Amino acid sequence: MDTNYSLILFRSDLRLKDNPAIYQCLQDSSKIIPLFILDSEDLGSASKLWLQNSLVQFKQSLLDLGSGLLITKITETKDLANYISSLSKDLRFKNIFWGRRYEPINIKKDTELKQALNEAGFEAKSFCSNLLIEPWEIFNKQGKPYQVYTSYWKQYYEYLSTSFKDRSLPCDYSLSSDNLIAKDKLASVNLNTELEDLDLISSHHWEAKCAQYILTGELSAISKLKSFIARSDNPQEYGLLNYGEYRDIPSVIGTSGISPHLHFGEISPRQIWTEVNKVESPLKIDFMKQIIWREFAHYLLYHFPHTETKPLKKDFINFNWLDLSDAKNLDALKIWQKGLTGYPIVDAGMRELWETGWMHNRVRMIVASFLVKDLRVHWLEGAKWFNDTLFDADLANNIMGWQWVAGSGADASPYFRIFNPARQSEKFDPDANYIRKWVPELKKLSNKYIHAPEKAPSGFLRAANIELGKDYPLPMVDHALARDIALNEFKKLKDKAINT
Ligand SMILES: Cc1cc2nc3c(=O)[nH]c(=O)nc-3n(C[C@H](O)[C@H](O)[C@H](O)COP(=O)(O)OP(=O)(O)OC[C@H]3O[C@@H](n4cnc5c(N)ncnc54)[C@H](O)[C@@H]3O)c2cc1C
Repeated sequence: MDTNYSLILFRSDLRLKDNPAIYQCLQDSSKIIPLFILDSEDLGSASKLWLQNSLVQFKQSLLDLGSGLLITKITETKDLANYISSLSKDLRFKNIFWGRRYEPINIKKDTELKQALNEAGFEAKSFCSNLLIEPWEIFNKQGKPYQVYTSYWKQYYEYLSTSFKDRSLPCDYSLSSDNLIAKDKLASVNLNTELEDLDLISSHHWEAKCAQYILTGELSAISKLKSFIARSDNPQEYGLLNYGEYRDIPSVIGTSGISPHLHFGEISPRQIWTEVNKVESPLKIDFMKQIIWREFAHYLLYHFPHTETKPLKKDFINFNWLDLSDAKNLDALKIWQKGLTGYPIVDAGMRELWETGWMHNRVRMIVASFLVKDLRVHWLEGAKWFNDTLFDADLANNIMGWQWVAGSGADASPYFRIFNPARQSEKFDPDANYIRKWVPELKKLSNKYIHAPEKAPSGFLRAANIELGKDYPLPMVDHALARDIALNEFKKLKDKAINT
C-alpha cells in the first residue's frame, strides 16, 4: 500500500513541538514532508543571520529523527504552486498544511496559494500556530476592532481563560521517525536547494560580531523560558516573579529575551502561556500582559493593514516630518543610528542594538521618542533601522511600537508626552551601569553628570578625561528647544483636526 504523505510548509514556525500543522498530519496518520520556503527578499540583516542559524538547527533536529528538510527560495505564489505540484509527482501527497501569518503581504500570498493549490486538486489547510487566538475572534461591544489595549486585554483574558480554555493548551503529541518521510526518500528529490544558496549570510564584519550574541532554535527557546520562570532574585538576573519590578531596568536581565524565538516560531505563545500559568502567583500577570501586547500588535495589523506605512490616527498624515532629501537632515538620522547624539541613554541603546542585535524595551521607547520627537524624523525611518538590525524584528510589534511612541497608533502615548532622555536615564538607570557599559568613554563621569554630560562643570569633565565634542559629542539638539518645536507641530495637527 502507498504511504500517505502530507507536505508541511515551514516559514515562521520553526519548531516541532506544539505545531498544529504537524498535529494534523498525525491525526491523519500521514507522514510529514517538511519544506522550508523563503518567500521574501525583504528580510533585515539581523533576521537573515538568525534565520540561517535557526534553520541549521531545525534541519538537524529533523535529521536526528531520520528525516530532513527540503528547502526552497520562491517569492512568486504562482511559482510556488508549480513547485509544489512538481514535488507531488515525486512524493505523492495530497495534503498541504501550514501555520498562518498575519503580515498584509503574507496574508495575500497565502490566500492566493491556498486557492491555487485547491484548484490544482490539493487539500490546503492553514492553522493558528503563532498566536493564542485569531485576530478575528474578538471585537468590542459595537462589533468593531479594539483600539485600546486595556479593554482588549480584559475581553481577551476572559475569552481565553473561560470559554476557550483548551485552546490555550499546546497540541499534545510526540514525534518519531515513523511520522516523517525517510532521509533517503527526501534525498532523491532533485528540487531541493541547499541552505547556503538562500544567501542569508554575507561577509560583513557586523555579522561575525553579532553572531556571538545569538543562541537560536527550539531547545534554546524552551530553556530560555524555563530559566526565566525559575530564576528569582539573583542580583543581576531577575525572572518571572520579579518581572513587574525589574522589566524597566536596562542594566539588569529583567525580561525573558524570548522575542526572536517567538518571531521565528521556535516557541509558540501557547507553550509560554501554559508554562507561565503553572506558576502559582498573581505576579505572573505582568508578564502575561506583555505576551498579549504581542497578540494586540498582530490584531491591529490584521484589522488596520494600512498601519504598516500610514498612521492609524489620520490627523498624523499631515505631520511636518523632517525632509530627509536634505543631506543635513539625513545626517541627523545617521548620527542617531550610530549612537552619537550626545544623549548618553540614547547612544547607549543605539550602540547596544548595533553590537548585539537587541535593545531593551524601555530604551527602545526612549530612542524612538528621540528620533520622532526631538529630531522629527518620520517613525518609518526608525522602524526601517530596527527592522534591519533587530534579531526580533517583527512587522506587527515594530509598527505598533513606533506608532505608539509617535502618538499616531492605537492606545498611543499622547502627542505632548515627550520623553526627556536625561530624566528617563536618571529614573531607569540611576547608577548609570547601562550607560557605562555601552558608552565607555563616559565611564569615569559621576552619576550626577553622566546622564547629561554637557551640564558637567569643566573640571569634572577634565577629571573624567572627557573633552566634549572630541571624546563624546555635544548634544546634537537642545532637548528643551526641540520639544517646543515638536509640540508646536503637534498642536498644528490638533488645530487642523478641530477646524475640519
Ligand atoms: C519602538 C519599538 C519597536 C519595537 N520593535 C519590536 C520588534 O520589532 N519585535 C518585537 O518582538 N518587539 C518589538 N518591540 C516590543 C518590545 O520592545 C520587545 O518585544 C521586547 O523588548 C523583547 O524583549 P523580551 O523578549 O525580553 O520581552 P519580555 O519583556 O520578556 O516580554 C515577553 C514577550 O512579550 C512581547 N512583548 C513585550 N513587550 C511588548 C511590546 N511593547 N509590544 C509587543 N510585544 C511585546 C514580546 O513578544 C516579548 O518577547 C518594540 C518596542 C518599541 C517601543
